[in-house]
Amino acid sequence: MSPKTVFKKIIDREIPAEIVYEDQECLAFKDINPQAPIHVIVIPKKEIPNLEELREEDEALIGHLFIAMQRIAQQMGISTGYRVVLNNGPDAGQEVMHMHFHLLAGRKFDWPPG
Ligand code: AMP
Repeated sequence: MSPKTVFKKIIDREIPAEIVYEDQECLAFKDINPQAPIHVIVIPKKEIPNLEELREEDEALIGHLFIAMQRIAQQMGISTGYRVVLNNGPDAGQEVMHMHFHLLAGRKFDWPPG
């Protein structure tokens, strides 16, 4: 069995994190190395390494994650503007192989992204 990712360890409460939202299917916590004044990582509790490993059975889960991000944005008072990022695979800079969204806010963001 492959070793637990850092995000699975957070789900299992083996390492600490500043959790901002949790429900049956997902968890959201502050990024340890924030790239904006607000930088939250949103993950499914189900271990899916990345988008390439997503299956049809995960369709509802992905919708659930987006509704959760809407709630988190409202809860954090950033509903007027935030960016959602998913780095998929090494060429896109994915470091943690547990699919996750970055929810970023609190500053202006450039487009196109770097
Ligand atoms: P990615 O490059 O898309 O895989 O993003 C991984 C993110 O996880 C980075 O922004 C890291 O700063 C963040 N990260 C790594 N370890 C932790 C941790 N223990 N707690 C919170 N965020 C973390």
